[in-house]
Amino acid sequence: MLNFELYNPTNLVFGKGQIEKLSVLVPSGSKILLAYGGGSIFKNGIYEQVKTALSGFEIVEFGGIEPNPHFETLMKAVAVIKEQKIDFILAVGGGSVIDGVKFISAAVHYDGNPIEILQKRILFKDVSKVVPFGTVLTLPATGSEMNSGAVVTIAATQEKLTLGGSALFPKFSICDPSVIASLPKRQLQNGVVDAYTHVLEQYLTYPHDGYLQDRIAESILQTLIQVGPNVVENPTDYALASNFMWSCTMALNGLIQKGVPSDWATHMIGHELTALYGIDHARTLAIIGPNLYRVMFETKKGKLAQYGKRIFNLTGSEDEIAQEAIIKTVEFFHVMGMQTKLSDCAKDYAKTADFIVNRFEERGWTAMGEKQNITLEKVKSIVEMSY
Ligand code: NAP
Ligand code: FE
Repeated sequence: MLNFELYNPTNLVFGKGQIEKLSVLVPSGSKILLAYGGGSIFKNGIYEQVKTALSGFEIVEFGGIEPNPHFETLMKAVAVIKEQKIDFILAVGGGSVIDGVKFISAAVHYDGNPIEILQKRILFKDVSKVVPFGTVLTLPATGSEMNSGAVVTIAATQEKLTLGGSALFPKFSICDPSVIASLPKRQLQNGVVDAYTHVLEQYLTYPHDGYLQDRIAESILQTLIQVGPNVVENPTDYALASNFMWSCTMALNGLIQKGVPSDWATHMIGHELTALYGIDHARTLAIIGPNLYRVMFETKKGKLAQYGKRIFNLTGSEDEIAQEAIIKTVEFFHVMGMQTKLSDCAKDYAKTADFIVNRFEERGWTAMGEKQNITLEKVKSIVEMSY
């Protein structure tokens, strides 16, 4: 096993009726920026619950954080925080609002042009340099409620870039599974596939001796396969909703990544498809992931075979099981309502591979994957195979 440090300071508050605990979770006397998205919280009763719980606090509201949050929008919130002397931010939303709040938190005291946070991948390790924040999760998918990473789009240049650092964990996150009752089917499907891919990115590497990590990863995959197709049809079923929500958090709260290699190339290529064509995040992963496993087959076939045996009970030679495991993954994505070809989701895509390769080259991203052997040539093949 590789050496590791495990640090996760987020207080995760999970279960029915937990939103009322905001009254004790937010530091007393705070002036709060309540950040939200396009307004779903007004239709499903979450806004009312939050306002009731925070009745003793001074609150400034900031709405309009869009899916795949824009740098340009988030900078308006930074200005509000400075003007209004806000000392705590509460994100109420899905991954986009939570990621947006991580950027806002980092940008307020940043000494320089905040666009550098994204373009230079600045790491935030000092909690005294960020504005503290908590979250009320409304969409299980990203794990952002219990990790310190975020993804933000610069609309002006159509770039989707990451930020993070140990100072950017939420102070607390409230995960009430009953909030998913109002989610559109498409977002439920996205959540399952995003979380499933988070696990695969930390699991489908090369065979190693992280036995426990593999078993934890497999248990999350199995749970998502068990509850995923059903929760989409029955989001009010609490057993399904709670297992779905907890699986999404566990998929990307850092735990399964410890002591093992990981490969984030599917996400990095997927981000480009969202930036270029506006395709939902999870849907980009369903397009890219299986083709990445095909192109990187020799590196990954040992783990693909383990995955095929343990998750899908496949039998045969290592090569056969590994190939079949990719097919089973695509089938699961189809069951979850995904389309797995770029041509299903975008027009005029013929130059996509060259465009992405040029961008990665400019950024120096020339060796990705757990063995740093996903070269620009491989990226080109993966994207072209997805057409
Ligand atoms: P999202 O973009 O936050 O939300 C998608 C849509 O769902 C929005 O229109 C939102 O509406 C709606 N919605 C949210 N909760 C709802 C509810 N309870 N009822 C009805 N509608 C609801 O989706 P997401 O998949 O959670 O986040 C995607 C973003 O996270 C992407 O930018 C992706 O790159 C990023 N991401 C981050 C991480 C990480 O570790 N930080 C990992 C993977 C992906 P409103 O706007 O009106 O609320
Ligand atoms: Fe993701």
